[in-house]
This record gives sequence, C-alpha cells and structure tokens, in this order.
Amino acid sequence: MSSLLSIQEIRSLPKIDLHRHLDCSMRWSTMLEIASTLKMDFPASPRAQYDHFLVTQPMNNLEQVLNKFLTSQKLLGSIEILERLGFEACEDAFNDGVRILELRYAPTYIAAGHPHLNFESIHSALLKGIHRAQQKFSIAVGLICIIQRNLPFENAALVTDFAIENKKTFLALDLADNEDGFEPKKFASLFQKAKSAGLQITVHSGESPSSLAGRWVRDSVEILGASRIGHGVQSIHFPDVIQLLKEKNVLLEICPYSNYLTQAFKTYKEHPLKKLKDLGVAVAISSDDPGMFASVLSDDYLIAQNELGFSLQDFQDCNQSAFQHSFISLAEKQRVWRL
Ligand SMILES: [Zn+2]
Repeated sequence: MSSLLSIQEIRSLPKIDLHRHLDCSMRWSTMLEIASTLKMDFPASPRAQYDHFLVTQPMNNLEQVLNKFLTSQKLLGSIEILERLGFEACEDAFNDGVRILELRYAPTYIAAGHPHLNFESIHSALLKGIHRAQQKFSIAVGLICIIQRNLPFENAALVTDFAIENKKTFLALDLADNEDGFEPKKFASLFQKAKSAGLQITVHSGESPSSLAGRWVRDSVEILGASRIGHGVQSIHFPDVIQLLKEKNVLLEICPYSNYLTQAFKTYKEHPLKKLKDLGVAVAISSDDPGMFASVLSDDYLIAQNELGFSLQDFQDCNQSAFQHSFISLAEKQRVWRL
C-alpha cells in the first residue's frame, strides 16, 4: 500500500528544478518592501495587494498571465534589488529542498523601462547574489539566457550575442513567451550560432493548446536543436512528437501549477504529466514562476501526488532524469547530489 507524503516530507525531499524564471522569483515580502520603498501606487488591503501583483488563480490564457507579470517587473529597477533577487531566489529554493537549480532570465525583460540598467550590469548583479547564496547554502546553480520571442528580431540577435559573450556564466539559450505567431523556426540562425559557440539549448514550446503545438515542438527539437523543452505538455496530443521526444531523449520541463494557472489544461486531472512519464518520455517537475505564483516547487509535487497519483518512486525517477539532463557540470552536480 502506498502512503501519501506529507508536505513536510515533500519539502525535505532533495529536488532538482530545471525551469525557474529568476526575474519572476521575487519573494512576496521583498516585493511589498520594494514597492513601498519605491512609493509605487498599490492597494492597501493585503488581499488586494496579492491580486495586484500576483497570479494565484487560473486566468483565461498564457497571454493574460504574462501581461500580469508587467506590474512586478517594475520592481526590478536597480542593481541592489537584482543582487538581492539572485540571493533570495537561491535561498528560497534551498529552503524548499532544491539542491540543483537552473535559473533563467530575459535580459530584455529586466531592462525594459529601466534605462540606467544594461545587460552587463543586470547579469553581474544577479551573479553576485547567486554567488553570495552559494557560499552560504549547499546548492548547485546555473543560469540560462532567454530570448523573448515576441520582441523584434534584432533584440533576439542582440540577446544571442550577449549569451555567447557570457558563455562562461550562461549554460544555455532559451526562447520564451507566447508561441502563437512567433514560431520556433524563425529563430533557427540564432540557435545554430549559440549551439556552435557551445551553449546548450532549451526552448519553451507546446505550452498552450494549439493545433500547431506538435509542429512547434518538433521544430524546436529538429531545427533549433533543443535537448530540453520548456513545458511541451501539448505533445500528449501528437503521437509522432511523443515518438520523437523518446527517440532523441528530449526532456520536458513540466510545471503543473503554472499550466493550471495559464489554463493549458482546464483541470489538474487533465494534466498529462503522469501519462507522458508512463509513455516513457523523460520528464522533470519544475516551478516556472514561484514569485509570481507565490508558490514553491513543493506545491507542484503536491499537485503531482494528490491529483495525478505520483509516488515517491515517480519523484525519484523525475529527479534522476533531471540530474541527467541538467546543463550544470557533472562535478558540480555530484557535489550536492547523492545518487
Ligand atoms: Zn517558463
């Protein structure tokens, strides 16, 4: 007879998070503190404050959720704040049992509306915070650079060059935001360049429902060279894509709570995490935007257990796959993780 893990047992389980947006990971108490310090206009009642800054209930679609992020983006306005964000994101992950953590951010997203910041100053501030956390906590941390696919192509080219220039401190290049109208193959030349320069590739694809989702996931793998896909949950509707993911051993970074909030699936019961795993696709459980959702990775584990029937063995299998597919060096992973 299998027994359910308690929230404390889930929190203390060593975990790997491969898909967490650093620029959407600000701690709630810090968000309020900075909004007050900056004298931002925001509601007075705690409930209304929550609704103003965060996404804690399902919205109509991914686009609505992404638009909601723009309120808290305004808080990312100084190198001191970014250093603190880097530190606290690692601290929060560590306190939730995360031992291997890949954080990603979009330089264009943080820089927008903050003319005194540039890509270099943003990157060095975040790195400083992460390094400070690594001196205090036994956690392996790596960074992934994100292209916002809905910005002009020149921006994508600039971000690619920035990632390549900083390949000592970036593990990989990613493509994020709404895929509809901004399909993967448009970015082929940039991902080819990044891959040739030695960066790894992960791509947000097949996140929201679309009849084209299967094509996009396939193109992300075959044309952009992704060895991991952010979300990719819509692949469940395309048997040929499932076959491709298995053949090429591509891992899906799956974020159940995020998928529910963006209504990629209407209910938890419809979420394909367990089905994909049972079909033999490599899957890992990730948190996506814990700051914006006021969540921790353990919340995603709870959903997997309580709604999708995940057992301790299932969690261990996911972490085993995550360990193998993490872009962080083997020596660094082994420093913090006992197989
Ligand atoms: Zn994401």
